[in-house]
This record gives sequence, C-alpha cells and structure tokens, in this order.
Amino acid sequence: MKRILPLILIICAFLTAESKAQIRYDDYFTSKSLRIDFLLAGDCSYQKVFIDKYSEEPIWAGTRTNLIPSFEYGEYQFRAYDKASGTEIFRYGFSTLFMEWRSTLEAKSVPRAYPQVVTMPYPKNTIEVEFFERNKADGKWVSMLKSTIDPASMFISKESKASYPRVKIVDGGTPENKVDMVFVAEGYTKDQMAKFEKDVRFMVDYFFQREPYKSRKGDFNVWAVMSPSESVGPDNPGKNYWSRTPMASTFYTFGTDRYLTTSDYKAVRDVVWDVPTDAIFILTNTEVYGGGGIYNYYAMASSDNRYRGEVMIHEFGHSFAGLGDEYFDSETAYEDFYNLKVEPWEPNITTLVNFGAKWKNMLPANTPIPTPVDLTQPRKLGVYEGGGYMSKGIYRPIDKCQMRVNTKDGFCPVCQQAISNAIDYFVK
Ligand SMILES: [Zn+2]
Repeated sequence: MKRILPLILIICAFLTAESKAQIRYDDYFTSKSLRIDFLLAGDCSYQKVFIDKYSEEPIWAGTRTNLIPSFEYGEYQFRAYDKASGTEIFRYGFSTLFMEWRSTLEAKSVPRAYPQVVTMPYPKNTIEVEFFERNKADGKWVSMLKSTIDPASMFISKESKASYPRVKIVDGGTPENKVDMVFVAEGYTKDQMAKFEKDVRFMVDYFFQREPYKSRKGDFNVWAVMSPSESVGPDNPGKNYWSRTPMASTFYTFGTDRYLTTSDYKAVRDVVWDVPTDAIFILTNTEVYGGGGIYNYYAMASSDNRYRGEVMIHEFGHSFAGLGDEYFDSETAYEDFYNLKVEPWEPNITTLVNFGAKWKNMLPANTPIPTPVDLTQPRKLGVYEGGGYMSKGIYRPIDKCQMRVNTKDGFCPVCQQAISNAIDYFVK
C-alpha cells in the first residue's frame, strides 16, 4: 500500500495538469473575436433567447488562460464547446438589465425583449454554443438554447462600424493580459471631447486612489473612446428631456429617477467594436445624480455630479467584480429580488445558506451572527443583517461598505478580495 499511494498521487496530479492544459488558446482560437447578438425576451414567469446575428470583430482582448473562470457569477452563463470533441472551451457569466426588469411590477402583465451581446475569442473550428439562465428556485443553471456556429460561414458578418478616436489614458501593456477598461462618451457633442477627456482623467485619478485598484494600477489599460452625440446628456423622461446619443442612455429606469442605464446593449458594443475591451464605463455628460452597473455588461455614471467619483467606484464594483448592493434602506422598484432559500452568487452578500463559500474563513473567531453594529468600529468585519434591498435574511460584511453608501472609506475586505480576483482573471 505504501508503494501504491504515491503513484496514485502522481496520476492525479498528472490528470489535473492534463485537463487544464487541454484548453490551449491557440488550439481553438484566433486573435479576433466572435460577437453574438441575441434577444432576451419574456416576462416575470419565463424568458427565451433568440439569436439575431453573428459577427467577426478585430480584437480579442480578454483572457487567454482563464477560458473557464474559477468563479460562477451572473444570472446567465454562456458556454462554447468544440463541436468535434465536445470539449468546453469557453465560459462567460453575465447579468443583464432585462433580468432586473423581470423583477418589476410591469413584468407581471406584459412581455418585453432586450437586445444583448456576448463576445468570445474567434473559433478556428465549428463550435456549439449554449446559453443558460440561473434558476431562481435553486440557483442552478438551466439550458435556454444551443446553436452550432461554423466560423467559416459566409453569414458571419465582417462589416465594419463607425470607428471613433480614442486616447489611451493609462498604458499598462498588451491587452491580452491586462484589464482593458474603456470609458465611452455619452451625451458629449463633438465639440465637447476635450471636456470628455478631462472628465475621464478625473474619474481615472479617483479610481486609482482606491484599494484594491491603487495597488494594481499596473494591471490596467484605460481608454477613452470619443463617441459623439448630437445633443447633451442622457434622456431624462421625468423632465421631458430627450437627447440624441449613440447608446440611448436614460434616467428613470423602471421609474427610479437616479437609475441611469441603457437597454440597448447592441448600441454600447457597437461603440467599442474595434477597441480592446474587458470592461465598459459609459460616462454621461450631465450633473444630475445617477448611475447603474450590471455584471459583465457595463457601468454608468454622471460626469458632473458632486458624487460622480463615488458613484463610479460603486457601479464599477457591480459591473467588473459582480458585487451586490449591500444597502437595504432605500426605495427600489424590485419585488423579491433575492430568494432567501438560495445563496446569492454575489460574493459580498449572503443568505447564510452556504456561508462557507463566502467570507466565513475571513471572520475573527466567535463573531456573533448577526453581528450587532458597533459605531465605534464601523469597519469591523462581521455578518451584519440587511443587504440586497432586504432588511431581513440577507447579510453584509461590514456596516458601511462602498456597496452600501457613498463613502470615502471604500470597500469592505470582502469586496476588495472579490475585485482582486476579478483582476486576476484577466491578468494571470
Ligand atoms: Zn463590501
């Protein structure tokens, strides 16, 4: 027995190395990307994927090593398989504004469709792609659609789109192993691009004063893409203000004045089609308070509001690292956003259903659950009740993290760790 055991260990180690090594980027992908446009349609009770269009785009700036991520964030998952072998070669989790809309009152009475995009490295051989939704009842993945794509097909569009001037604000190195953060201009006229660049530089300075971004600035490239608008600022339906902008952004999303979003993700992706892009930040030219951020989708904020920096940091936490809102004490348009019987996928909130997968191992011994708020130790790590828009049954790591309030004290340790992991996904 003593002689056999080491041999088994060696075989296990070998198999692990072998299975990881199987997805070598160059075996399956070129340096371009494949863009899949689709619609998500449905209401509160069902949703479906409808394929719209396939396109070839010139650059894949994403990871070439973590093709199957170690974390499973998002309300949706996209997987690609090599058709001949059945091997899974790419996986991408994301959320959408449509998913949030499905939790509104309107979704109980009428169906809607939202345009969506996923991109992946361009395959060398025929692939099968599969879309999954996260089942609200148990948090498990449910297949929505499977489709075969031949990369040589004449029906994959190679049409170019409008190419906008861009400025590299931070130069960390080659896009393949950096986080490529792209600021796009929304509601800036062509005569206001100097203001846009100045606004981006303010945001970027602010961003890199905050941990963990401060320590990891060398892992980022930051771009400013000068996409011009016909008129200033985003739509503001509450003030009957309508603006001609490339991405159709608007306040009053789902009736909430400060919720600044766009439901036209195709238009967003059209602006960055030829820019190395891992994370999109839509900077809207307005002084009205507002913002939004959705995981692996985009983040958005106002350029001239006094809280612009704090809003940017908060919203980018959603879109880049999959962080959930830690607040629970303000009006929201959602109904039953989280199922308390399921552990939420966001790393910084817990229902205690599977707390071991969250920050349990970071807690000091004998931390009471729920942890009482101690105003003399506002940043003490614990398990504080309230988060995810609910005052009961969901818990947050500190009393007042950046994901709860606009605070100069920044993120809690749990959010900082999650952001570091998100950076690692792109650079390691
Ligand atoms: Zn936090």
